[in-house]
Amino acid sequence: MSQKEQINQAEKNLFHVYNRFPVVFDHGEGVHLYDADGKQYLDFASGIGVMAFGYGDQEYKDALKNQIDKITHTSNLYYHQPMISAAKKLCEISGMDKVFFTNSGAEAVEGAIKTAKKYAYLRDGFAGHEIIAMGHSFHGRTVGSLSVTGTEHYREPFLPLMDGVKFAAFNDLESVKEQLTDKTCAIIMETIQGEGGLYPAEESFIKGVRQICDERDILLILDEIQCGMARSGAMFAWQNYGVKPDIMTCAKALGAGVPVGAFVVTDKVAEASLVPGDHGTTYGGNPLVCAAVDKTIDMMQERNLVGHVKDVSGYFEKTLDSFVEEYNFVEGRRGMGLMQGLVVSVPVGDIVRKALDAGLVVLSAGQNVVRFLPPLIIDEKNIDEMAEILHGVLNQWK
Ligand SMILES: *Cc1c(COP(=O)(O)O)cnc(C)c1O
Repeated sequence: MSQKEQINQAEKNLFHVYNRFPVVFDHGEGVHLYDADGKQYLDFASGIGVMAFGYGDQEYKDALKNQIDKITHTSNLYYHQPMISAAKKLCEISGMDKVFFTNSGAEAVEGAIKTAKKYAYLRDGFAGHEIIAMGHSFHGRTVGSLSVTGTEHYREPFLPLMDGVKFAAFNDLESVKEQLTDKTCAIIMETIQGEGGLYPAEESFIKGVRQICDERDILLILDEIQCGMARSGAMFAWQNYGVKPDIMTCAKALGAGVPVGAFVVTDKVAEASLVPGDHGTTYGGNPLVCAAVDKTIDMMQERNLVGHVKDVSGYFEKTLDSFVEEYNFVEGRRGMGLMQGLVVSVPVGDIVRKALDAGLVVLSAGQNVVRFLPPLIIDEKNIDEMAEILHGVLNQWK
């Protein structure tokens, strides 16, 4: 079947809930993807920030293959070695204390919300607590995670969502204070907003929120699903700021290509919130995905991916800044580490589409941001290659 025939077949059977780009990806090698016709693409999206090591890493593949030969699923009624090992390592790299593995980011956010609600319920002896979330945040598409997502057009058709969520403006401490009540049990935010348009938290803001939480026994939930796992130039983005959450959510690059997430809590939270019977998942953290998490953390540490991201992101930022200088419709750059965006005043969807035609995979964010989430293994040569293709695309608007 040609690519076109495959796409026609796909549209016959797949619920049309995505406007997919007309490409059928077949395989990948390093930082390149290949479609079903053999065309090569430079990947600066990594499956939305998932494929930290790019494609086809032998050590990673071997770890998964070995696990498939042993056992892929047990349910959470029993222990298994990959989960034990992965949880230990996730606590080591985060300095957090207890892990619950999920199948996705949205489910990690659901678990974080339930944990915060239960914590406040046990402390106060009654339910009905509130959560403060941020404008233009993104936490997922399930009803609970959508309830704390601050993008109106994602929410509107599904109202009413979970009750008791109030929205503050990101990086505006006063607006957070305005939403505080005696019932506030948690403040949730991305350390670096991704989908909403690549806004890093300002240090004074995140520290101010931490202080408010400390003063009032409110739990700080930091969503590290996109910005975590070395992408920002620290293993977790909050480590750049000298603050620590009470609950952290992970997913995306946590398993570097298998569906796995986690919510990770401090002992203080674990000892006074969820107990057996409060939460569960059949698949969550099964042996296959935990073998991937375990290997991902090992490889990130052995290869010093945090150091590599720090080294290469300066060059990446400089390269993107040169686009801001060269094109008047490229208005600015935002981001941190290998999570970067260019703010544009021409239709961002057209740029993303034309880049794909030209063999470069990039993403959009918000209304007007070209988003770059390359595999963390990229080098300066890859960045030069990206810049060359992107110049060819952007020159069409010059
Ligand atoms: C992608 C993302 C989610 C949702 O994760 P899924 O695995 O798609 O459910 C939540 N929060 C942030 C910050 C994300 O980037």
